Amino acid sequence: MSCTRDSLETKVHADLHTHTTCSDGCHSPTELVTKAATRGIQVLAITDHDTVRGVEEAEREAEKRGIDYIPGIEFSADVQDREVHILAYGIDPEGDRLHEHIQKMQAARERRAWRMVERLGKVGLTLNESTVEEKISETHSVGRPHIAELLVKAGYVKNTDRAFEQYLGENGPGYVAKPNVEAKRVLSLINHLGGVSVLAHPGHWTSSRHIRALVDLGLCGIELWHPAHDSSLRSYYARIARDYNLCTTGGSDYHGRTKEDDYYFGRVGMPETEWERFSEVVA
Ligand code: AMP
Ligand code: FE
Ligand code: FE
Ligand code: ZN
Repeated sequence: MSCTRDSLETKVHADLHTHTTCSDGCHSPTELVTKAATRGIQVLAITDHDTVRGVEEAEREAEKRGIDYIPGIEFSADVQDREVHILAYGIDPEGDRLHEHIQKMQAARERRAWRMVERLGKVGLTLNESTVEEKISETHSVGRPHIAELLVKAGYVKNTDRAFEQYLGENGPGYVAKPNVEAKRVLSLINHLGGVSVLAHPGHWTSSRHIRALVDLGLCGIELWHPAHDSSLRSYYARIARDYNLCTTGGSDYHGRTKEDDYYFGRVGMPETEWERFSEVVA
């Protein structure tokens, strides 16, 4: 685990980074909200990859459970040939330009899934066409984790981590890059939808050069609390936030896939005072 104890000592009030079955998470929006309530989370954002499908269902359940719900999404984008993830909060989930973007990404993700299946077939890992179709139909945002699940189910690997290590990582024989949209366009879309843009998990290899480029393109915030950030990385990004006048957020990036993932849910996120500060920005 990369998150050191110190970051787990403050009580989590808000978790602004989670996933559901609408993208590559394992729980439905209703299940996720229920689980968040049992972990004592008071403010929740679901940030599925390139989709807002879960928003309505989650909002209904959150109201029942007395949790504050913030509509969110995690966009994939390219900046200077590097993929980054940009979270958006407080967007209008009905916005026209949003749905155009989502549909385009969904189609591109499906084409890519089939290309990955084809590449895996070339190295002897044949996946049954109807099981692939079924898997694609279970989500609104197919990605490598779904292909990894199919490899596990077919008995080619023992778990999804292995599937990534052996076949789906950037140098793996099944890897196909996502054809992403430029960060400039994603940031302008978020702006258009009245949302706040936040760079997700910069600790996943986003260099200071790339952060600077995103700031120049209008990025509003940076994720500080994340399971991939220990206290020294958090201090480092807090300094960047001060230097560039960025707001700061955090969350568990919960997908519900592993024990480690489960451990962080309710343990990594924003303390109340930090949430209060951000709530003024996202209002
Ligand atoms: P994609 O956007 O389709 O390229 O897939 C990236 C997603 O895969 C990330 O959002 C993570 O949820 C997941 N992921 C990345 N690395 C791993 C890994 N080693 N094991 C399991 N899931 C992973
Ligand atoms: Fe994911
Ligand atoms: Fe991400
Ligand atoms: Zn995420």
